[in-house]
Amino acid sequence: MNKTIELENRYAAKNYLPLPVVLTRGEGVYVWDDAGNKYLDMMSAYSAVSHGHSHPRLVKALKDQADKLAICSRAFHTDKLGPMLKRACELTGMDMALPMNTGAEGVETALKAARKWGYRVKGIPAGHAEIIACEGNFHGRTIAIVGMSSETQYQDGFGPFPAGFKVIPYGDVAALEKAITKNTAAFLVEPIQGEAGIRIPPAGYLAKCAELCKKHNVLLICDEIQTGLGRTGKLLACQHENVKPDGLILGKALGGGLLPVSMFLARKDVMGVFTPGDHGSTFGGNPLASAVGLEALNVLIEEKLSERSAEMGTYLLDKLHTLKSPLIKDLRGKGLFIGIEFDPRKVSARSVCEQLMPHGILSKETHETVVRLAPPLVITREQIDWAVERIDLVLREMGKLRATG
Ligand SMILES: *Cc1c(COP(=O)(O)O)cnc(C)c1O
Repeated sequence: MNKTIELENRYAAKNYLPLPVVLTRGEGVYVWDDAGNKYLDMMSAYSAVSHGHSHPRLVKALKDQADKLAICSRAFHTDKLGPMLKRACELTGMDMALPMNTGAEGVETALKAARKWGYRVKGIPAGHAEIIACEGNFHGRTIAIVGMSSETQYQDGFGPFPAGFKVIPYGDVAALEKAITKNTAAFLVEPIQGEAGIRIPPAGYLAKCAELCKKHNVLLICDEIQTGLGRTGKLLACQHENVKPDGLILGKALGGGLLPVSMFLARKDVMGVFTPGDHGSTFGGNPLASAVGLEALNVLIEEKLSERSAEMGTYLLDKLHTLKSPLIKDLRGKGLFIGIEFDPRKVSARSVCEQLMPHGILSKETHETVVRLAPPLVITREQIDWAVERIDLVLREMGKLRATG
């Protein structure tokens, strides 16, 4: 076996099962392995690399800021935090933001804000705040967050979990109405469920949820860590239904593919519940992350990456629809956020990813049946044409093998 992989296997905890490839370099939509082989990255680090690998403007912002001041904690003001938060708020229509690093921290921040808002503003009796989440959700890996998960593996061996969470079916407005009580502080939802396999709820779902939340004085909090910042063809996926949530979580692409940068954004009356000492993060909002985050937002707008995602996503999805593979059970997506669902009786999504790799395409299965196609948003038509040819070839080969084997 490859020595590098052996080394990693010896010392790294086995909480991942990576494809057997060792990446050493990336540029734009491409990455290279240790033998010099080139791959089209159709995964983009779960959408953290929407701008493409090592975007020159983002690398420059990172280097310039690293030369000046990188980390100093929130014990002091910096000249970088304000401009980044202002840009994020103006672009998303939110009033204020709380910067963190990883997505899970952004979600935890949202949960804390929602509970405190529930007690201080809505008047929920102490200790009784409820937060509603959806089956199939993915919001990260902390104890509280996996406590909301409907995936048995995510919870197995990690309990007990905090109380105060309710899980309802996704895409089901009636279930939400039924679950809301006078103690409900918030409804936390992904506009499209990414990790669940690019699950797109029925049209009108989010808008109806927003109405219900408003009627019952419940905060609608959208987790757009994966769907946000252009991935689905709009700046935010909730804009497909003209929904403006009460709280919003961003992450992944906010770091421009260079750093972990996340934030919780909200209306003033929600964010206003935080007072000094309530919550924090040593690294959250550091000048390096702020400089990169601001430039990531600027590049997103100036290079029209949301519009590109809409256009290229439609192009890719249309092309995929022309593939007549009997292995494919369903095909769905919005923007460059596409899932190919395979028939599990015929082929596993993992084996498709393993076969795509030697043909120069990297992706990752989500659950056993779905291959996610979510390339950097800077991908071109020619690159998509090339990718679909490869996918077609691999599916034909796999279809044949199955027929003869
Ligand atoms: C990735 C993801 C998270 C967690 O982000 P981390 O940076 O891995 O902690 C939360 N919510 C959604 C929707 C995600 O896709």
